[in-house]
Amino acid sequence: MIEIEHVRKSFGQLEVLKGIDLTVEKGEVVTIIGGSGSGKSTLLTCINGLEPIDSGRILIDGTEVHAKSTDLNKLRRKVGIVFQQWNAFPHLTVLDNVTLAPRKVLGMSRAEAEEIAERQLTHVGLGDKLKTFPGRLSGGQQQRMAIARALAMSPEYMLFDEVTSALDPQLVGEVLDTLKMLAQEGMTMICVTHEMSFARDVSNRVAFFHQGVMAEIGPPEQIFGDPQNPETRKFLSSTR
Ligand code: ADP
Ligand code: MG
Repeated sequence: MIEIEHVRKSFGQLEVLKGIDLTVEKGEVVTIIGGSGSGKSTLLTCINGLEPIDSGRILIDGTEVHAKSTDLNKLRRKVGIVFQQWNAFPHLTVLDNVTLAPRKVLGMSRAEAEEIAERQLTHVGLGDKLKTFPGRLSGGQQQRMAIARALAMSPEYMLFDEVTSALDPQLVGEVLDTLKMLAQEGMTMICVTHEMSFARDVSNRVAFFHQGVMAEIGPPEQIFGDPQNPETRKFLSSTR
């Protein structure tokens, strides 16, 4: 599981995370919603050790992410992250883009990595695009390639940061469907999203962030049906 214990983080004078507590159990899907600048992305980058924290702790299956003794590369294999945009290597095929990390980081043979990459690409609906170059893919297909690339490392946890935000509206659905599929398969995930109906459909819990504070967390029925915090209400009425 992922345990976040009273995490604080500042950038210079600006405190971006003001004591975040959150435990995500194995198999759970937690979505994070909230206004721009509320600290959502920062939390994800802290969880996988891309950013240091000022105080508190983050534990992945009991391993403290920010402890000096922690092997961050090893930890990051366990925790995949997909961002709004991922710049694939344009001169490599889709298949080669996805095999790169398993080969370089995990030391897999080409054959072994290709088998896994092909399986993951097929899983996200890109089985017919293996030999295509990334520039020929639609935005939605590129995001699904980015998801397949993360899955090829066999992560136990996945972090998604607004993976549909850069997409044309008609391409959003195919990517959300891929995330839903992963959720149904039991992947433990934290998804930052602006897609409220997605959050309502797939989440076990929804967390609302406001100015660096997790102002409210609860099952989707509560957050969307009966929000307790006035800021949650204000935010949700602004997104409708
Ligand atoms: P969100 O994802 O909720 O929109 P972020 O976590 O990206 O919010 O950012 C929270 C705040 O931290 C914002 O005010 C942002 O400008 C600031 N911030 C984020 N990353 C950095 C950085 N690397 N250096 C300085 N300030 C940053
Ligand atoms: Mg963000």
